[in-house]
Amino acid sequence: MKITVIGCYGGFPSKNEACSGYLVESGEYKVLIDCGSGVLSLIQNYVDINKIDAIILSHYHGDHISDVYCFQYEIAIAFAFGLRNKPLEIYAHKLNGKFQELNYKNFCVAKEINENTTLNFGELNITFKWMNHEEPSLGMRLEENGKVLAYSGDTGWCDNIIKISQNADVFLCEASLLNEYAGKIQGHLSGGQAGKIASNSGVKELVLTHFPHFIDLNQLEKEAAQEYNGSILKAKKGLVLEL
Ligand SMILES: [Zn+2]
Ligand SMILES: [Zn+2]
Repeated sequence: MKITVIGCYGGFPSKNEACSGYLVESGEYKVLIDCGSGVLSLIQNYVDINKIDAIILSHYHGDHISDVYCFQYEIAIAFAFGLRNKPLEIYAHKLNGKFQELNYKNFCVAKEINENTTLNFGELNITFKWMNHEEPSLGMRLEENGKVLAYSGDTGWCDNIIKISQNADVFLCEASLLNEYAGKIQGHLSGGQAGKIASNSGVKELVLTHFPHFIDLNQLEKEAAQEYNGSILKAKKGLVLEL
């Protein structure tokens, strides 16, 4: 499986950057995990967007979903010009009234995911667990031929993030806060907490993401490294991870 980071900012995208968006390619399948502000523009640097089979959304906050609405228009336009003939599948949980908005005419089809779902795209299997966030949010575990990518989505500390990242080859984990704010801002993790989870879960590599603005990201990484001895990367636009 090949993962390309499209965007890695929380809240809003920095200049020429994007919010959460990760392209996962497995065999012939191309799946986009989260689709926040800026993702639709930047992803075109890496893939023909009309080849994307599905979008999987962790939750409904704008920094994870806002570009879905323009993506729906893109799909409609691509159908009109004969550039695409397969509807885009958009997977998300149903605990939000916006679920129905993910359907768009015959071009986009909303499909429910929850803790009981296993999605299969060829050799790629994806399972989910509820995280600890302001609104219901799903963490994901993507497995292909024994290789595992775990993705936190947005979450504060919880048992499920440790379960879903157990022994992952790559753990893509949000790090929205410096340690001094851990627990003071709910529903997000500090660099140190991300490191502690990576350590508890025995992951092989930690990739920090969902970055805050106006703070030193090297400090976030340092705080993670105080809790976790393995390899740590900071996500960045265009970063490719091959499992
Ligand atoms: Zn977010
Ligand atoms: Zn959120």
